[in-house]
Amino acid sequence: MDCLFCKIVAGEIPSHKVYEDENVYAFLDIYPCAEGHTIVLPKKHFEKFTDMGEEDAATLFASVNKIAKIVGDTLELEGMNIGINNGEIAGQTVAHVHVHIIPRRAGDGEGN
Ligand code: 5GP
Ligand code: ZN
Repeated sequence: MDCLFCKIVAGEIPSHKVYEDENVYAFLDIYPCAEGHTIVLPKKHFEKFTDMGEEDAATLFASVNKIAKIVGDTLELEGMNIGINNGEIAGQTVAHVHVHIIPRRAGDGEGN
């Protein structure tokens, strides 16, 4: 399948790995919104979050919960945005479900 994120999971395209288990692969976003911007993928290919069944979605979010704590502890964050762009119209540019973990820091929203 010609999917960029499946190729990242398979190691065919290099990425900076943050975390991996049997279900998910997490890596740093190539165009980070903030230092430590992390993308979490299910290893199984689904185009959109709403294509996933409840069980797969729950498994994904159990790992997201774990990874968000690791990112928060490692970078000593007080908070982060955790979210999904679900569908092209919602801003999804890569057609493989992924969750963004975007570190937030004091003052980073100023001027927006
Ligand atoms: P979306 O807009 O689909 O929710 O997010 C896709 C994200 O993937 C974007 O933030 C983009 O910077 C990131 N991205 C796209 N291609 C690559 C890549 O080849 N490597 C990495 N590390 N991130 C990528
Ligand atoms: Zn894929």
